[in-house]
Amino acid sequence: MGALALQGWLGFAVRAVLLAAACLTLISPAGAQSGRVAIVRDAEIEALVRDYAAPIIRAAGLQNSGIEVILVNDPSFNAFVTGRRMFIHTGALLASETPNEIIGVIAHEIGHIIGGHQFRLRERLDGARTLAVMSSLLGIGAVAAGAATGEKELTQIGSGIASGAGELAKRGLLAYQRDEERAADRTALELLNKTGQSGAGMLITLERLAQNMKLNATRIDPYQMSHPLPAERIETLRDAVLSSPTFANLDKPALQARHDMMRAKIAAYTQGAGAVRRIFRDASTLPARYGDAITTHLSGNPAAASKKAEALIKAQPDNPYFRELLGETLMRANKPAAAAEAFGRASKQTNGRAAAMMRVQQGQALVAAGEHAAALRILKTAVDQDRTNANGFAALAQAHAALGEVGEAELATAEMHFIQGARREAQVFAIRAQQKLPAGTPEWRRAQDIISAPQRG
Ligand SMILES: [Zn+2]
Repeated sequence: MGALALQGWLGFAVRAVLLAAACLTLISPAGAQSGRVAIVRDAEIEALVRDYAAPIIRAAGLQNSGIEVILVNDPSFNAFVTGRRMFIHTGALLASETPNEIIGVIAHEIGHIIGGHQFRLRERLDGARTLAVMSSLLGIGAVAAGAATGEKELTQIGSGIASGAGELAKRGLLAYQRDEERAADRTALELLNKTGQSGAGMLITLERLAQNMKLNATRIDPYQMSHPLPAERIETLRDAVLSSPTFANLDKPALQARHDMMRAKIAAYTQGAGAVRRIFRDASTLPARYGDAITTHLSGNPAAASKKAEALIKAQPDNPYFRELLGETLMRANKPAAAAEAFGRASKQTNGRAAAMMRVQQGQALVAAGEHAAALRILKTAVDQDRTNANGFAALAQAHAALGEVGEAELATAEMHFIQGARREAQVFAIRAQQKLPAGTPEWRRAQDIISAPQRG
């Protein structure tokens, strides 16, 4: 489990019908076969992408619109929006060598949101598909592992429907999208200028995609389907980008450093040691060492991985993600008390959702260590910080159950199902919880809210 834990996102992500959007992706071949889109949760990557998006969202005046960035575990290059949710493939993050490239992608997606493109396009599509699942960066194998460890709900929600995505390939739709792509690019460039950032990354991305199309003329590229005609977009965009006052502005070194760490992590989890070495040739650099520590961890050598994580912490003591990795290696080495300590320190080095995710790991480690009262305290803080963390509620349920607090355990289980969009199961557990909880308490009322919630929203 751990940082890249099998993790429910919001209920919507699991079962809600995904309305077709302007940038709706054609799911990648792997995704198409399984008919699902895998959401990945990772504190480090989420925090970085949020930091990329925040200035653009502010410049667009959308800071109070509740725009959420969601990571999709998919090796193809793609990004798309539906409603207020922006989905970015890990493949896009890995392919982008600089923050500026991915910030350009985000700005383009915000351009679609501002343009309201998705709402008009939606009416033109007769199909809709279910967005499914959460996963770790390890992907489907990890979901299978979840099943093996008895986390049945993790595998049950994988049954999305993929009807309608193919509709996007229709030519008429592509023609319709052309103007919207240009408009989104224009808006993106304005937002980049406003935030003092270069549009060069947008050009780099488009040129790479156009090049890939030439090399693989027969392959269906998801980004090309959701955002057609990169070659045309380049023509329209090039002069504006080159003449922009911010053209020569580079990413700040600290941001580039975080970007490199993120790429090392994604490469390590999704492609292995070879990919890490290919991207970061100098083995002495921090990203290379980070990727190496992760692949060592994944290869089932927790003792060696712990040593590597400790060396990384020595090099950068304030990096919470090195301590998080240390905690994961200790969990795998069956040292849950030491792992809890590492996660606890990591949580104090970060804040917000990232801190909550690490507290959940700390709580899981404490449960494993048999420290149920301490686990309960940490997990309550964690789920108060982030009500969307299904793993947090699952661990909370375990801690309550171990302490003989059956009503509370059932309420936490209800919350977990609720987050995962399993409304019926959530109701069942909420009803059971209510029978045991004293009437009128906040917990009893929360159970009532879950019972009364509409089945599908
Ligand atoms: Zn687009």
